[in-house]
Amino acid sequence: MAKKEQVDVLVIGAGPSGSVSSAFLHRSGFKVKVVEKERFPRFVIGESLLPRCMDNFEAVGLLDVLKKQNYQIKVGARFVRDGKDCWFDFEDHYSKGWTWTWQVPRGHFDKVLIDEVASWGVDVAFETAVTAVDTSGERQLTTVRHADGGETLIESKFVIDASGYGRVLPRLLQLDQPSVMPPRSSIFSHFTDHRRPEGILGERITLVIHRKDVWLWIIPFSNGITSVGFAGNPDYFAMYDNDDKSKQLLDMMNDVPFVRERFHDQEMVVPGMMLKTYSASVKSFFGPGYVLAGNSSEFIDPVFSSGVTFATESGVLAAKLAKRQLNGEEVDWQTEYVMYMHQGIETFRAYINRWYEGDLQDIFFFSHDSANSEIKRQICSVLAGYVWDTSNPFVRDYGERALGSLSKLVKIYE
Ligand SMILES: Cc1cc2nc3c(=O)[nH]c(=O)nc-3n(C[C@H](O)[C@H](O)[C@H](O)COP(=O)(O)OP(=O)(O)OC[C@H]3O[C@@H](n4cnc5c(N)ncnc54)[C@H](O)[C@@H]3O)c2cc1C
Repeated sequence: MAKKEQVDVLVIGAGPSGSVSSAFLHRSGFKVKVVEKERFPRFVIGESLLPRCMDNFEAVGLLDVLKKQNYQIKVGARFVRDGKDCWFDFEDHYSKGWTWTWQVPRGHFDKVLIDEVASWGVDVAFETAVTAVDTSGERQLTTVRHADGGETLIESKFVIDASGYGRVLPRLLQLDQPSVMPPRSSIFSHFTDHRRPEGILGERITLVIHRKDVWLWIIPFSNGITSVGFAGNPDYFAMYDNDDKSKQLLDMMNDVPFVRERFHDQEMVVPGMMLKTYSASVKSFFGPGYVLAGNSSEFIDPVFSSGVTFATESGVLAAKLAKRQLNGEEVDWQTEYVMYMHQGIETFRAYINRWYEGDLQDIFFFSHDSANSEIKRQICSVLAGYVWDTSNPFVRDYGERALGSLSKLVKIYE
């Protein structure tokens, strides 16, 4: 016989999305419970943040604890193609907002966040996985299974699904739908980095364009470890296919001189991991008594490091709207949540599509060489995650018009 519990809000998943939403609702006076399938720290990919997510951590009181962790400061990004460099510095971006953020080992980062929330009095249950949900009544009934096999039935007024790649409600409520993005793969690991260059060259995230449709990241952390991974066209990954994903990653790195020279004799500190078809989408972001936040709703592509920014943006907004609904106010979830998130998601989607078509890569290297710094500042704001600032022509219309015109111009000059 399952045990029973009652809370105001149940949050599924203790990643960044679950942490910010539970933090906000707890501070608003609600009884919140977070259930998390894993024991923390656990490995998760998604280590390069965007300045915009700092607003979200600040909004829920989680910035101070992060500032104490001495994470690697990220002040911009470096792109490398055919031996040429293109740098973006957030200091110089068009929108008002943060000009820096961090590069973080997510196992540590996510634990710091959720431990802080738990220290405020939020009930966080680790090794507790949601197995079933009934959203048909006035209250939501969620079944969770504990590590010892025991079960609890949790009755709540509202559920926030922040289960990331677990995609709990999309699976249980048949909300999943194929992403419109073409299938793309990724393979990655963490390495020691004894040949890390001194200063900014060694500290800054670097994206290496290997082919138009295959790129790799180098993300240095302050603990001396560096994340290296490839993403892109699955056909390229198939050429190196190996059941041993560590070996496959090393073989792939061996064919890219930029990483081979720095990492060929370094220790791989976690086994190589591969994700196939990482993009995900859903038919609906919300329903009666529940909402999907973070990766549980939509994930497009890692190329511009937008995942944690969307996870926290949606987590904070979902919590704010849930608060209003729980206080008896009418909430128009379609307009206030879905349309808002779509503005950001569709802007990044436009950039990501143009990235893989090659146009955006050409624009980056063109705007880097050209004297038009205003255009670069506007594009830089998008890369900083300020994709809701529609005064920016590179955000308005999801940036389509501005990118289209610029792309034509670049083709004429080339
Ligand atoms: C290859 C790759 C590289 C990426 N790089 C970046 C990057 O550089 N920067 C960036 O911002 N983003 C990046 N991302 C995206 C990033 O990983 C995600 O967007 C981010 O982790 C989403 O956070 P979240 O809180 O929604 O989910 P998660 O961080 O995935 O947290 C969800 C939690 O829910 C728990 N859970 C799952 N199922 C259940 C269940 N049944 N019951 C209870 N708990 C459950 C999980 O254990 C997990 O801890 C990358 C993604 C990929 C695929």
